[in-house]
Order: sequence, then C-alpha cells, then structure tokens
Amino acid sequence: MVLDKLGQSLNNALRKLARASTVDEALVREVVRDIQRALLTSDVNVRLVLDLTKKIEKRALEEKPPAGVSKKEHIIKIVYEELTSFLGKEAKPIEIKEKPTILLTVGIQGSGKTTSVAKLARYFQKHGYKVGLVCSDTWRPGAYFQLKQLVEPYGIEVFGDPEEKDAVKLAKEGVEYFKKKGVDVIIVDSAGRHKEEKGLIEEMKQISNAINPHEVILVIDGTIGQQAYNQALAFKEATPIGSIIVTKLDGSAKGGGALSAVVATGAPIKFIGVGEKIDDLEPFDPKRFVSRLLGLGDIQGLLEKFEELSKETEFTEEDVEKFLRGKFNLKDMYAQLEAMRKMGPLQQILKMIPGMGYSIPDEVIKVSEERLKKFKVIMDSMTEEELENPEIINYSRIKRIARGSGTSTKDVKELLNQYKQMKKFFKGMDKRKLAKMAKKFNF
Ligand code: GDP
Repeated sequence: MVLDKLGQSLNNALRKLARASTVDEALVREVVRDIQRALLTSDVNVRLVLDLTKKIEKRALEEKPPAGVSKKEHIIKIVYEELTSFLGKEAKPIEIKEKPTILLTVGIQGSGKTTSVAKLARYFQKHGYKVGLVCSDTWRPGAYFQLKQLVEPYGIEVFGDPEEKDAVKLAKEGVEYFKKKGVDVIIVDSAGRHKEEKGLIEEMKQISNAINPHEVILVIDGTIGQQAYNQALAFKEATPIGSIIVTKLDGSAKGGGALSAVVATGAPIKFIGVGEKIDDLEPFDPKRFVSRLLGLGDIQGLLEKFEELSKETEFTEEDVEKFLRGKFNLKDMYAQLEAMRKMGPLQQILKMIPGMGYSIPDEVIKVSEERLKKFKVIMDSMTEEELENPEIINYSRIKRIARGSGTSTKDVKELLNQYKQMKKFFKGMDKRKLAKMAKKFNF
C-alpha cells in the first residue's frame, strides 16, 4: 500500500483521538505531536511539518465545531483538510484538449521514467485515446526495447531507432510519424542520462523547442524523500514543467517527504506510481489520497476502481454486489481474484472502503499468480455443479478433483479454504453500515 507506514501512524494518532473520553488541550497537543512524528519519519521537511502542525493545532484548539458535529469529528476533519491543502488541495489532471496532444517526459535515469511512460500510455489508452510513444533516448541503447516490451502487449506503438544518435531529430520524426497516423496522444520520452548533467538539460531544452509539447512531465523517484525539492527546482528552471509524476510510492518510507517537497516547488503532481506493473499508476487527487492515507475510506475512489475493472473484465454491477455480499461461487471467486490481481493488491481496494482501513487479514487476500494458476487447473477438473455450488464438495470429490487435475488433496482443500474465507469475510461487510460510516465522516 502507498505510504503504508505514514498512513498507519496518522491513523493511530486519529484513533487515539477517537478513543478518548474527553477531548482537552493536552490530548490535542499529543495528537499533533504524533502527527509531527509521523510526518518527520516520512522525511517531510521539518519547517513544512512545523507550519502544518501549527495550523492544525491552532484550528483544533480555537475553532468551535458546528452544531451536530462532535469535537472529535471536527478535529479529524481539520487534520484531513490541512493535510489535503498541504498536498496541493485540488486534483489537476493532464488534459487532452487537442488532437494530437504532445507530452514530453523528462527525468533522471532510474527515476522510473520509462516505466511511467508505459503506464501513462496505458492509462490514456484505457480512457479511450489512441496513443503513440516516441523514444528519443539515444544514450541508453536498451531504452527503446524496454519501452516496446512494456507496451507491446497492449498494441501501443513505439517509434524509435536504437542506431540514431540525434535525439532531437528522433523526437521530431516520431512526432511527425504519429501525427500522420492520427493518434490522440503522443508521448515523447527523453534521455535520463548524459555525459554530464548540463548536456541532459540542454538536450531536453532542444527537444522541447523542436516538438513544442503541450506539457512537459517530470518523473521523480519518490524514494529520495525531500531531496525531490531540489531536483524538481533544477528541472523547473530549465523547462516549463507542467506536471510531475512521483514514482515508487508503494513501500517507500520517504514518500511523504517526496510528495510534500514537490508540492512546495509549486509544480502540480498529476500522477503517482504505486508499483512495478503497467496499471500501477494513479491520478493524484489530494482529497482522495489523504482520506485513504488516514484510513477514512473513499467511496468515490472505490466506485471508480470498480468502474475501470468492469470495463476491463465486463463485470456487471450485480457481480460487484455479489462480491460484496459474499454470495458468489467458485467461478466468481476466480474471476474476481484475477481481476483484483490485475488491479493491484486487493488491500489497495479495500482500504478505500470506509472503516476498512488496516484491518483485513492477509490470508483472505493474498493470492499469488502461481496460486491462481493452480486454482485454475483445479477448477478445470470440477463439474459445473461443483463450481456453482462448492458446498457439495466432500472428501471423495476432493480426491477425484485432485487426481483429475494432477494436484494434491491439500491443494484442492486450499482452494476451498480460500473460497470459504473470502465468502465469510465479504459476507461480514455490511454495505449499509459502510455507507453510514462514510456519511458520519462527511466525505
Ligand atoms: P528509468 O531509468 O527512469 O527509465 O527507470 P525505469 O522505468 O527503468 O525504472 C527503474 C526501476 O524502478 C525499475 O525496476 C522499475 O520497475 C521500477 N519502478 C518504476 N516505477 C515504480 C513504482 O511506481 N513502484 C515500484 N515499486 N517500482 C517502480
């Protein structure tokens, strides 16, 4: 999960508040101190942390909650609001206004630029745009092939020539090529390494002048923490950076520092990288991000994810309903586990459900690719009746299924166990209760 540690610490601070019988000044100060500690651990700049927490403390102590709202709820809302504005307040998407819209990506090698270009292409493709990629990296011979390999399975074309030494020429030719093809979005990837940094910046300027992009996107490695500030500034001075993608926020202990540092430069973060897979890119929306981070849930985010999922796997609302109500059979389970795997960890989705943050047992959701494959083989040896009503599978059937699928009875039992656990767990999730909780927090 993105910024797991930071989220957990902030969540703990808010829980402390929620559990307290009375909210007095001492408690407010304690919670604010906890928030400070959490942010500093995530490498957020000390001055930024102090400014932010001073604001939270002042508001929490001085503002009176409106009628019908408890002091606790009010303070939670203040923390949410201040953190949201700390991270930029409003979402600023990349707009595809003109056809073709030309985007130029820049960034230092290793930042996750190539991966992000592929993710971005896939993102636009999923949103109905035809995308062309241009690799103008003439310094790293593997760059073109890496990009090609990433997007080829999705039928996205990459223009490039590993033999060509002139990056500006390549960029220009690539843009012309895709203009003729009539694509909606052209993403030009530039080199991330050069003989010297000055050369890299100079080349970037030349490419930018030659292709005149609608937007220059800087890719920054989220694991560098608050150092992101200087890196973003250096690029910003060289070209008009329109937006930033902060990568590797999954599992990065310093992600909070990177995000806040980038916001402090005044350049908007438009996407975040949350994993190595092509679909692990999320539009950055401070409001949604903070409510998820705090474990307060995000119904909107959940619905959007489900919407995307249904586009890809043609799930119906009924399927989702079935899933949430625990009324599903083995076939449903398989389709859902597979879809979840595609979407990223199920944990990620469940965290978006209000009240679900940080409490999902691992065994319910951990299904590796390998295990899923095994499940498929086992299920291929089941009868239609067994798939639809797994409850009828007794020991003699288990033995027969294991033999038929070339697996062991232990494997078959494992599959049935997974099914039972998921069914039980999701049955326990009461949708009405979830909706009520969301309302309570006013999100
Ligand atoms: P480039 O040199 O900037 O083009 O970087 P690459 O795109 O080749 O990425 C460098 C490494 O970072 C690769 O191993 C990627 O899989 C990995 N990477 C990129 N983005 C992410 C991300 O959001 N999360 C994680 N965990 N890894 C990422």
